[in-house]
Amino acid sequence: MGKQQQQPKPAPAAPPPQPSKTAHSPLLTYASMVTLLSLCPPFVILLWYTMVHADGSVLQIYEHLRDHGILEGLKAIWPAPTLVAGKIILGFALFEAALQLLLPGKRFEGPISPSGNVPVYKANGLLAYAVTLLTYLSLWWFGIFNPAIVYDHLGEIYSALVFGSLVFCLLLYIKGHVAPSSSDSGSAGNVIIDFYWGMELYPRIGKHFDIKVFTNCRFGMMSWAVLAVTYCIKQYEMNGRVADSMLVNTALMLIYITKFFWWESGYWCTMDIAHDRAGFYICWGCLVWVPSIYTSPGMYLVNHPVNLGPQLALSILLAGILCIYINYDCDRQRQEFRRTNGKATVWGKAPSKIIASYQTTKGETKTSLLLTSGWWGFSRHFHYAPEILAAFFWTVPALFTHFMPYFYVIFLTILLLDRAKRDDDRCSTKYGKYWKMYCNRVPYRVVPGIY
Ligand code: NDP
Repeated sequence: MGKQQQQPKPAPAAPPPQPSKTAHSPLLTYASMVTLLSLCPPFVILLWYTMVHADGSVLQIYEHLRDHGILEGLKAIWPAPTLVAGKIILGFALFEAALQLLLPGKRFEGPISPSGNVPVYKANGLLAYAVTLLTYLSLWWFGIFNPAIVYDHLGEIYSALVFGSLVFCLLLYIKGHVAPSSSDSGSAGNVIIDFYWGMELYPRIGKHFDIKVFTNCRFGMMSWAVLAVTYCIKQYEMNGRVADSMLVNTALMLIYITKFFWWESGYWCTMDIAHDRAGFYICWGCLVWVPSIYTSPGMYLVNHPVNLGPQLALSILLAGILCIYINYDCDRQRQEFRRTNGKATVWGKAPSKIIASYQTTKGETKTSLLLTSGWWGFSRHFHYAPEILAAFFWTVPALFTHFMPYFYVIFLTILLLDRAKRDDDRCSTKYGKYWKMYCNRVPYRVVPGIY
């Protein structure tokens, strides 16, 4: 068994290099960091306002900002964080933190880190997900708490999340400097990079409370599910029924999130957890961007109950389920292949593979297997295509009256194309000639024959 990540160690004097963070030119990297740091918070409020109060219309929001000026226009619509919003967020966060700590789960060892540590987790995500949804629905059913209240205070909740999560990221930055949880930590020598990309790979509170599992999975992904249900209930409370468009949207989002929690320990082996450090990009993103932007198609549908008819509704539902399944199967294939050390069959055949060696930051030589058949023979990041299509299918029930419901699909496409490039650059640095060999064998990055 490898060394466990929880053993506290002093931060290394020189930080491990972060090639993926500077995959683009330095100027572009800084410009995009500063732009995202300053534009993402107001955008969350603008999107909420557009969906809930401006009919999902870009034109309406443009006219508002043009008439009042950008700053005054923003101030006019920006709700102040309220006590109710604070109580809802705190109640939810404490409940999820308690479930993360207390529910039983199998021990799971994450992939070996660049410093050679092996983080250990408790795999109780699916149970936490079931307990959360059952509790939420029971509170509503027994008249203890009406989820419609969450929708009615959504703007204040996002406002509180925007500011609270910035403070949270600041605390992470300070923790990275003064009390890192493991040797997988270090400064890039620049405040903006350290704040934006984070300093620690696996920050923890005490030995067992993993902060990235909390921010990404138990707060971010869980709030997505809770808000999807909230939007459905709000529409029901307003109209006495739920439109089929809302049902398709909610069903697909919940299937996607159920898949996520079913496979949560697999997620702990992906870039978000194994490569990206705990900073604004990952943590603020999961604490604020996921509950707001990712849920936005459902947020729009609350006030726009489109009736699709059974045939169209069912076709969209089935197409969405197929995409979610293919995305899941791509991830499963890669992880099963790695878990069995290349012995698992892929589509009934022995897998084709490359044995790639690389050096850890400590100078040790290790090997990894790269799968070059099955879904992974189509393109190097084929799984991103069904991910984007699934998002399209849970948005398309809104039909094409307004552009804004499609913002998430467009954002996701840009995010994943950038991620594919970042991952390729990181893997190329890690595996050198073996990655070149892989690129020769599987020449396309995402869409076979096109890109
Ligand atoms: P992957 O799960 O694709 O992991 C990428 C890593 O896998 C690489 O860094 C490399 O790591 C290893 N690898 C690359 N090629 C191969 C290969 N041929 N065989 C074996 N291992 C390989 O990355 P993601 O984290 O991007 O995706 C995970 C899931 O999360 C996907 O389903 C994706 O769609 C989803 N996702 C969703 C997002 C959203 O916002 N909705 C955002 C991002 C992802 P190593 O160093 O170990 O070799």
